[in-house]
Formats: sequence, structure tokens, C-alpha cells
Amino acid sequence: MKTQLFPGYSIGPDAYKEVVKVCIPYGTKVVVIGGEKAITAAKTKIQDAIEGSQLEITGFFLFGGEASLENIERLKAIPEVQEAHMIFAVGGGKAIDTGKVLAQRTERAFFSFPTIASTCAACTSLGILYNPDGSLREYSFSNVPAIHIFIDSEIIAKAPDKYLWAGIGDSMAKYFESSVSSRGDELNHSPAMGVLIGNMCNEPFIKYGMKALEDCKNNIVSEELEEIILGVVISTGFVSNLVSIDITTGLAHAIYNGFTVIPHIEKHHHLHGEIVSFGILILLIVDRQKEQFEKIFKFNKSLRLPTMLSDLHCTMDDVDQVIEKALKGIDVRHYPYEVTPDMIKYAFSFLESYNKNNIKQVC
Ligand SMILES: [Zn+2]
Repeated sequence: MKTQLFPGYSIGPDAYKEVVKVCIPYGTKVVVIGGEKAITAAKTKIQDAIEGSQLEITGFFLFGGEASLENIERLKAIPEVQEAHMIFAVGGGKAIDTGKVLAQRTERAFFSFPTIASTCAACTSLGILYNPDGSLREYSFSNVPAIHIFIDSEIIAKAPDKYLWAGIGDSMAKYFESSVSSRGDELNHSPAMGVLIGNMCNEPFIKYGMKALEDCKNNIVSEELEEIILGVVISTGFVSNLVSIDITTGLAHAIYNGFTVIPHIEKHHHLHGEIVSFGILILLIVDRQKEQFEKIFKFNKSLRLPTMLSDLHCTMDDVDQVIEKALKGIDVRHYPYEVTPDMIKYAFSFLESYNKNNIKQVC
């Protein structure tokens, strides 16, 4: 038997007004788990939304900074959490994954409230768990996502735009990675539908990305911003829920993993999605998608997403190390052809000279 569950979602500056109607069938006692900034941003709006209803918030609890089993165990021991009928997780990916895995493992109703749009964690059933030192621990697989996602676009518009910027890069990889990784596969219904939804992670970003980012910088809620938030949270989340991890990942994330061993990356705080967006360019060169490459190169340039190694504080001297690490992970394990170190190295050199020629052309 196969069961596939999907969250419902509401988006808008007044999205929390739906909370009572959506949540009341699941009980009355609520605990809110999140990051400090996120709770500050969302607390009053959530309290206002449930005022006068039977829903009662019995506590706001900090998730602890890392989506770790240690934090989940700590939260599980809190009496209010034990007595709660439902869990609201408020914040970014790690806060939401903490609340999600806690809810899955204690069989509580779970609702997500993303306050930044940088990942699809609010929508996916998968939880990503880390060790307390921040290193990856495990993927917590489940087919139970949030029941409903409440996306307050005003809160996201006021959040730092760098999260949306990096979220755009990460989300667009869903299209390129799932379409390449699944090429030649005979997919049955769910993954086939997931790969098709992946198409929503390309053109809409090119169309609305620039304007959405501008609006986020100026704290303005606009249609374009909401389109991009839905792209980052919902389109990518649905792809993840429908398609196996072999297909939702690919060479762009392999390149990201490769860069994690380079000290300059950590030192200069480059964001996950920022590096993944660079990885998309490498993927497109390796896959010989000339037209798409030119389009994404132009797009990345216009958004100031990285297009050359110096944008990531790296040089060609780092490339062998990046490639070695990139090919060690699972990302290109399922691929339509073998990706060799030479192919990736060629792509890096091609991209470096393409940047130089492109600058010359502009001059
Ligand atoms: Zn990613």
C-alpha cells in the first residue's frame, strides 16, 4: 500500500487568520516551537489570530539552534509539550524540522509557519537532523508532512533578503537536478508527477525572481514576492514529497557538498543555496545544455548569485578537492551517465573563461 500526504497552505499578510478554522479539529492545546527571532516576529500575530477561540497556546519554546535529536529529546520532556494536542513550528528550516520530527515521533498534529523562504522544510515530510556541532547526522524519513502551512508574506518580506536570495538558487536546482537525474527512468505515478512539478522551479523564478528580491529588500509584499515564496516553499516541497532522494538531488548539490571542505566557504559564510546556484551552472555545462546554461548564467549575474570561483572566495587551486568530495556523496549515484572528475574540471575551467569573455563582451 502507498499513502501520500500533502499539506494545505495559506499565503498572505493575513494567512494566520485561517489558523483556528484549520486547527480546531485537532484539539485545543498548542505549543509553539521556533527560533528566537521567528517567535518574536510571529508571536503577536498568532496570538491575535486565535484570540477568543478554543485554541490555547500553553507555551512558546526555543528549538535550541540545531535540528538535533538532543533538542528533540529535551523538548519531548517538557510537560506542556507532552500535554499538547498540536505543535506549531515557527521559523526557518532547522526550527521547522525540529518541530516536525518531534511531532512525527510523538504523533502530534503538526503545522508549520515559515518566517523566511529559504528552504522547502515547511512543506516536506523529510526531516534533516544534525549533530550538536552542526554536522549532518541523518535524514529522518516519514510520509507525514505538516497538515497545513501558514505563510505570512508580510513577515517574510520583513526578513533579511539574503535568505530569499539563497532560497531561489536552491529551489531552481530542483528542476535541473530532478530532470537530469530521472532522465531515461521509467517513473511511476508519484515520481513522474513530482518531476513534472519540478518545472515550476525554473521559469517562474526567472520571471519573478528579480522583482521579488527587490520587494523583499524594501519589505514590500507583492504578487511577485508571493510567487517566489510559493516556489521556494511549495513547488520544491511537493517535488521532495513525491520523488525519491536519488532523483531530487544531483550534480548541483554534489558541487555544494564539494565546497563544504574548502575553509574559505565557511569563513565567508556563503549560504547553501548560493553555492547550489553555482553548482547548477556546473551541472548545465557537464550536461551540455548550452541554451539553459546561458540563460541561468545571465540570471545568476542579474541577481548577483555566484558565477565564478572568486565569487565564492575560491580559485582553480581548490577545484580538485571540491571534485573529490563532490563525487564521494550520494548526489550523482543515480544519474543518466557516469560523472567523471575530468568532466567537472572541464566545466570549472569553461565557466571561468566564460566569465572573462562575458565581461569583455560587456566592456
Ligand atoms: Zn539544497
